[in-house]
Amino acid sequence: MKRILVTGGAGFIGSHLCRKLLENKDEVICVDNLFTGRKQNIQKLMDYENFEFLRHDITKELYIEVDQIYNLACPASPVHYQYNPIKTIKTSVMGAMNMLGLAKRVHARILQASTSEVYGNPQVHPQPEAYWGNVNPIGPRSCYDEGKRAAETLFFDYYRQHQVDIKVIRIFNTYGPNMDRDDGRVVSNFIVQALKGEDITIYGEGEQTRSFCYVDDLVEGMCRMMDSREGFTGPVNLGNPGEYTMLELAQKIIALTNSRSKLAYRPLPQDDPIQRKPMIGLAQEELGWNPEVPLDEGLKKTIAYFKETMA
Ligand code: NAD
Ligand code: UDP
Repeated sequence: MKRILVTGGAGFIGSHLCRKLLENKDEVICVDNLFTGRKQNIQKLMDYENFEFLRHDITKELYIEVDQIYNLACPASPVHYQYNPIKTIKTSVMGAMNMLGLAKRVHARILQASTSEVYGNPQVHPQPEAYWGNVNPIGPRSCYDEGKRAAETLFFDYYRQHQVDIKVIRIFNTYGPNMDRDDGRVVSNFIVQALKGEDITIYGEGEQTRSFCYVDDLVEGMCRMMDSREGFTGPVNLGNPGEYTMLELAQKIIALTNSRSKLAYRPLPQDDPIQRKPMIGLAQEELGWNPEVPLDEGLKKTIAYFKETMA
């Protein structure tokens, strides 16, 4: 039985990861300051005796004994990470330093949840891991993008300087149950709007693209990366290469919910990336990983979740 720390474990992705690790019979310590995470996401996990929740902010040091660390703590939706941008970058950078320091002290393997946002508004399409990105260092998204880039730098410096056993994944847009309905992300916004019969808010012309990965697929990839061969650090892209415009996504969700909602156009937020699609050859080769849940199927499960929680 391994003892595993999951920071951000009460959030959307973290709660799914904790459940999977508990099902594998590992001991899980979920650390979260509940900024965007919710106790409700981990309510059912409290029944496992090998689960422990610790309310803690990772910008502060943490002294515990663990074998592995999944570092997910960081607000992830533009609305939430721009709410307190200084706190966001502190969480990424100081959080990474604290967790890397912990990994170094207890000789734990540590995985960083990085992001496709390190590619910024990409001029190379689709994005391979070798692409260095096109990021605005002083814009409204920079607290997140640059925070995550600095965290990657810290991971690789701890690897080179102190031989810490690191793993870095770059997560592309992920969706599924336990998303926060108010966090402003496109999938949750569109589903909630469609279910309520409200206007579907399309930012800009809706021609920008994203690639959407169902959370179960992502968590499988994360665990495979954590258990990957020694010396394979990544960074490795994890995402579903299916690419959709926001208009296509809206139409899909309207059809799947049988909604009467109409489209309403709103201004495009500053620095909103125009296109995004992962190259996943490295994950396929190194981890034997492929996303398996088609968008329609994942959306149906997500819609069912929102229907239940909104009832
Ligand atoms: P989320 O907001 O649901 O989860 C983040 C969790 O971190 C929340 O529970 C929050 O309370 C916690 N947290 C924030 N600041 C903290 C701090 N200082 N100390 C302790 N806990 C803190 O977001 P998510 O979608 O589950 O994202 C999880 C991770 O995956 C994040 O690091 C995010 O950057 C990364 N990621 C997510 C996506 C996606 O599409 N969901 C894409 C790329 C990367
Ligand atoms: N978006 C939209 N309507 C919404 C919310 C988001 O058109 O109500 C767009 C947004 O402008 C972006 C895409 O959907 O182009 C994905 O946005 P999200 O916030 O989910 O993630 P990110 O921009 O970080 O990929």
